[in-house]
Amino acid sequence: MDALLHVPQLTAAEAADVARRLYGVEAEARVLPSERDQNFGLRTADGSRFVLKIANASDDRALLDAQNAALAHVGRRASLCPHPVPALDGALLSEVTAASGSRHFVRMLTWIDGEPLGAVRERTVELLEQLGARVGELDAALADFDHPAIHREFYWDLAGGFALVRAEAPLVGDPTLRALVTRLSSNVEQRDGDRLTRLRRAAAHNDPNDYNVLVDDTRRITGILDFGDIVHTYAIADLAIAIAYAALDAPDPLAAAAAVVRGYHRARPIDDDEIGALFGLVLLRLCMSVAIAARQQTQRPHDAYLSVSQAPIARTLPRLAGLDRDAVDAALRVARGKTPEETLEARRRVMGPNLSVSYRQPVKIVRGWMQYLYDQAGRRYLDAYNNVPHVGHSHPRVVQAAIEQMLVLNTNTRYLHDTLAQFGERLTATLPDPLRVCYFVNSGSEANELALRLARAHTRRRDVVVLDHAYHGNTTTLIDISPYKFNGRGGEGAQPWVHVLPLPDTYRGQYRRDDSRAGEKYAEYARYVSNPGAFLAESAPSVGGQIVLPGRYLASVYAIVRGAGGVCIADEVQTAYGRMGTHFYAFEAQGVVPDIVVLGKPIGNGYPLGAVVTTREIASSFDNGMEFFSTFGGSTVSCAVGLAVLDVVQQERLQEHAREVGDALLGGLGALRDSHPIVGDVRGSGFFIGVELVKDRETLEPATGEATDVVNRMRERGILLGTDGPFENVLKIRPPMPFSLEDARVFICELDAALP
Ligand code: PMP
Repeated sequence: MDALLHVPQLTAAEAADVARRLYGVEAEARVLPSERDQNFGLRTADGSRFVLKIANASDDRALLDAQNAALAHVGRRASLCPHPVPALDGALLSEVTAASGSRHFVRMLTWIDGEPLGAVRERTVELLEQLGARVGELDAALADFDHPAIHREFYWDLAGGFALVRAEAPLVGDPTLRALVTRLSSNVEQRDGDRLTRLRRAAAHNDPNDYNVLVDDTRRITGILDFGDIVHTYAIADLAIAIAYAALDAPDPLAAAAAVVRGYHRARPIDDDEIGALFGLVLLRLCMSVAIAARQQTQRPHDAYLSVSQAPIARTLPRLAGLDRDAVDAALRVARGKTPEETLEARRRVMGPNLSVSYRQPVKIVRGWMQYLYDQAGRRYLDAYNNVPHVGHSHPRVVQAAIEQMLVLNTNTRYLHDTLAQFGERLTATLPDPLRVCYFVNSGSEANELALRLARAHTRRRDVVVLDHAYHGNTTTLIDISPYKFNGRGGEGAQPWVHVLPLPDTYRGQYRRDDSRAGEKYAEYARYVSNPGAFLAESAPSVGGQIVLPGRYLASVYAIVRGAGGVCIADEVQTAYGRMGTHFYAFEAQGVVPDIVVLGKPIGNGYPLGAVVTTREIASSFDNGMEFFSTFGGSTVSCAVGLAVLDVVQQERLQEHAREVGDALLGGLGALRDSHPIVGDVRGSGFFIGVELVKDRETLEPATGEATDVVNRMRERGILLGTDGPFENVLKIRPPMPFSLEDARVFICELDAALP
């Protein structure tokens, strides 16, 4: 601490002279505040700005080298700190002699605009989270930095904090504060001493106090300054120090700490030991500050800068001391959240083992907004394949509708409420006659189950006809009619009452696109089924590989099935509400009207909502005396959500949007097929698109492994995609409907780079 006896004493004129001689910079110099060095702001006639740093005469050269090296190191990884500027002779560190005769090292750094965070009165949660995130970024950048000079004994090092407080606290003038500091430090030592010895260590800036953090006038943090305290210490030292200063005079210091932790953890994950030791280090830092100020006061009693933090510390420390440590630790743990590995571990412990996780490196999404998802580190992903958040993740109108209704009432259909019939009317209005009767349930599976019951009640037949590779839901009966499941791993094969027609795939199936009658020919297979009760198919098979049915296929199958006494069910769970761009429902593109339409995923935008719409005639057959009731189906809240989603789809003209952007996507993808031999087929309509990858365009050998690689590479590039199809070699592109033209451009660009 004797450094204060060696503070440089250059005048502004001397500083300007040094800038001119050593750096060739003609500038006006102005003194900036500092504790142990002298810093001058330089401004040239053309407005360029620099900082000239005159080091304390007691600083050794190696430490200054280390600071320069750290600044350059961080500069290569994050845009956060000033850069060292070389002198005319190329040196990053030079020597000057002051008029007084003392010799000093001198450095010049680039200037960062902004005012100190310490001068910002209003500390919003966003600002504090940002502070945490920026300090986390700094630490992430410093994680692989080292230099011999930072392994040093330093009085500001938290690792020596208890000894320092023991030695210096007796100098604290105020007896109450003296006792508090002594007691707190020894409590922390007892409670956290062991844990501290286990903590990860790394290079730390060691002083991100709010006068070393700059913000611009939009409250964006522009930089973190002053590496003079750099030391190799606890890896969470910077976090603890940032929290210590953020908590000063905060209305709710714990909330402030939690906000900083939240931001930091996204940029640099905090482990369990660290979160447990964090608050102790916050207290220790403030105790050290009081103790060090007391010592420095004895050396320079009239230096106001030395005690700039002391009054707020004296006010805040008793408040922090009054908090319950267990409660604080728990709150900080909650603020941190879990790392993706911990989350995965936790779900493995408690969940059934056959849940899958997407991507080799799973993503932990914490927030969604329209067509974007954000992970815990704040990274944004373009969502190119989730069709459940149809009108956009967390669309505010849908969320608002749910909240407003939930605040008032949520009951079932046995009471009268207006939204039920309102939603029913709005929904049937989107469908052609005679589809006029609705049932509301909670999922696509429940809707398909109910559709089968309706069909069976009407035809009194059990047999069901489906398309190969189809998936219709997770119930016992639906697994029985889903070839994707019963013929897949763990499946038990087809039941005798289930009849599978070949998938009308005109890219790799029996009849191809060059056959103008492919639709009718595929449909002929339906004639082999005697006594069909129901034909149940997606109007554009998705799990089957994003298949667009050939013209007249559904018209022909429907005619055959109806002719044989069956009814036709359209599973529109994936394709409804304008996704195809050309039509509101995919069956419309086939020129048919089903007897029963099944709706799910998009109609609730993520709220569990399924619907079945049928004819008055079939509904009458179903009305055989047995009540139909679903506890949650048609609930007050689900109808409010359903209405809001329809409003958004229609008012935001999302079907037209899907058509326009879908055409652009298809165009871009077509160009990729010309330049990448692995792209065998590009097909689709609107936002229902498949890109089939093949090893050979003649044999059509599926490029399954390559498709998985592409999906994982896209994830690394910030775009979420999946695969589908019998060979898992089809990239499925089915984004939330707000996906924009610019998103399409970025998508094509990134896919171009990710394709082999
Ligand atoms: N039908 C189709 C075509 C589907 O894709 C799905 C779900 N992927 C379902 C039905 C089942 O819907 P849910 O998962 O909501 O029960």
